[in-house]
Amino acid sequence: MSIPPRIGFIGLGIMGSAMARNLLKAGYQVCVYNRTRQRTTQFADAGCEVAHTPRALAKASDTVITMVSDPAAMDAVLEGPEGVLQAFAGGNTLINMSTLSPAYTAALARKCYVAGVTFLDCPVSGSKPAAESAQLVILAGGDKAAVEKYTPVLRAMGKAVVYAGPAPAGTALKLCVNLIVAQLTTALAEAAALAQAQALDPALIFEALAQNPALNCAYFGLKKDNILNKDYPPAFPLKHMLKDARFMLAEAAASRLHLPVTAAAEALMAEAAAAGYGDKDLSAIHLALTAPLRG
Ligand code: NAP
Repeated sequence: MSIPPRIGFIGLGIMGSAMARNLLKAGYQVCVYNRTRQRTTQFADAGCEVAHTPRALAKASDTVITMVSDPAAMDAVLEGPEGVLQAFAGGNTLINMSTLSPAYTAALARKCYVAGVTFLDCPVSGSKPAAESAQLVILAGGDKAAVEKYTPVLRAMGKAVVYAGPAPAGTALKLCVNLIVAQLTTALAEAAALAQAQALDPALIFEALAQNPALNCAYFGLKKDNILNKDYPPAFPLKHMLKDARFMLAEAAASRLHLPVTAAAEALMAEAAAAGYGDKDLSAIHLALTAPLRG
């Protein structure tokens, strides 16, 4: 890319704040918007322009990156008189990095195509630590040449870009990867609960896994302290994985595919969310399972 893009970044939550910081570190000109303005303070202090509305942000940028919760949040920042789409004209680029449904992503890709806007479907694999250290794996959908053109921007936030195909292939791949994350977390939580039920120290599970090269998965290490300390500060909020599990099940149902273990994980996460754990880390599935054991 000969002229660096003027980037507008929307969504300064757990992931977006770290990703926007890494774009700044890489030397990009970044304007930010966040619904809750308080989260923009550190960016204003770092010399970033802070937009009052998504529309104002889009006016000041040629490339807009979104990293918000879900389709409702995307609608809130894209649509309406103060939305991004009001200010977008042919030649702009929209890169969505939030995890949305494939159906929403496909509709957004069509809308952008009609408006002459380049759309990249780029959700990410990796949680808060990977976002902070620019080690995300970016699952990219869209026109291949456009993905290649934007690879330097994407690589400022991640260690690798995996090209999946035209949109919504990035999102489709993201759901497949998150299916594994949901089940790994559920397996870990159930194993720790079973250990507790047998009067066994759950730390022994992590020790045994770490000693076995076939089972020594770095992801277990990321969730170890949460489970052992029964404290679940959010890296990946449970409510977001519940959303993703519902996207997986909807996609499967559309193809008459039955995903029984994902369905069970969804039910477990729905229970945990109903118990008030939606804003905790996904590993709070463990809390939902073990709470009755304390009674
Ligand atoms: P988060 O911390 O909950 O942040 C969500 C962001 O969306 C915030 O900036 C929030 O603004 C904004 N938002 C929510 N509803 C909105 C609305 N109605 N209008 C405008 N803005 C709205 O989430 P996160 O963990 O950064 O995740 C962001 C996305 O990445 C999600 O799709 C998630 O599934 C995906 N993801 C997360 C992880 C992870 O480990 N955390 C990893 C990979 C992918 P406010 O500040 O005003 O609330």
